[in-house]
Amino acid sequence: MKIFQDIFAIRGAIKDIRHQGKSIGLVPTMGALHAGHLSLLEASTKENDVTITTIFVNPIQFNNSEDLKNYPSTYEDDITLLEKCGCNIVFAPTAKEMYPTEPVIKISFGELAETMEGAFRPGHFTGVALVVMKLFNILQPTRVYFGQKDLQQFKIIEQMVYDTSLDVELKMVPTVRERSGLALSSRNKRLSKVGKVIAAHIYQALKVAAAGIQAGNDIKASINAAKSNLQSFEAIDLEYLIVVRMKDLQSVETSYDHDQLVLCFAGYVDGIRLIDNLIINE
Ligand code: AMP
Repeated sequence: MKIFQDIFAIRGAIKDIRHQGKSIGLVPTMGALHAGHLSLLEASTKENDVTITTIFVNPIQFNNSEDLKNYPSTYEDDITLLEKCGCNIVFAPTAKEMYPTEPVIKISFGELAETMEGAFRPGHFTGVALVVMKLFNILQPTRVYFGQKDLQQFKIIEQMVYDTSLDVELKMVPTVRERSGLALSSRNKRLSKVGKVIAAHIYQALKVAAAGIQAGNDIKASINAAKSNLQSFEAIDLEYLIVVRMKDLQSVETSYDHDQLVLCFAGYVDGIRLIDNLIINE
């Protein structure tokens, strides 16, 4: 496994791989790797000749400097894991390498970014879009792997690829969970034991609400029941719990048509921000 930190050097390696006609699978991450990331890696190694994992905590997607400062880092362990799991290349640039000067362009996404994460983390998707665009341009992947857990991120990138005619195939990989149902997240490393037990109620509440809606229960009533369940825990500070249409992420409260629907959650458990979602009618 080769590790690169600078753009110039990895561009040379990419040129060689492309020259040999090999496909490139890309797994963008912010490190602190867990089994969720590894499921993306597994999908990529199955479908591509070469798999590249990026480890980069992208400063411009954090609207909260404390969150950035506290973001977990387990670089040495990450490298060991990646090597074991068949990754071929790691790209782990510094912030200075990626942004020698403050970037000027701002990619915006209209209504897609006005809801959920976009509403609660202003500027987040502008930062995500720019780093992903840079990674695509530097690494020229054939396929790129993202987790369903960050569904809005996937939809935003899908829109960017569509609108700018990028020649890349996007793959969405299902969310990997702990036995309790808690979605794996690098941020879980900061949860206490009790916090983890409480956080598992998020998935349970989503599951009950999603099953109810699927069975024909009123969407608003199902959401409200899940909300009051979660709000009964003092440690949980809910940001949003909504049902959206998969196609455009617009919120759906009363009608139930034939669109695919997704139940989405964000909130804090003991001050640690977690997100999760379930596709209702898969
Ligand atoms: P992150 O390092 O949190 O930015 O995540 C990197 C990629 O891993 C993103 O595409 C995430 O959606 C994906 N990911 C994070 N957690 C999970 C999970 N529990 N299951 C599957 N994919 C995940």
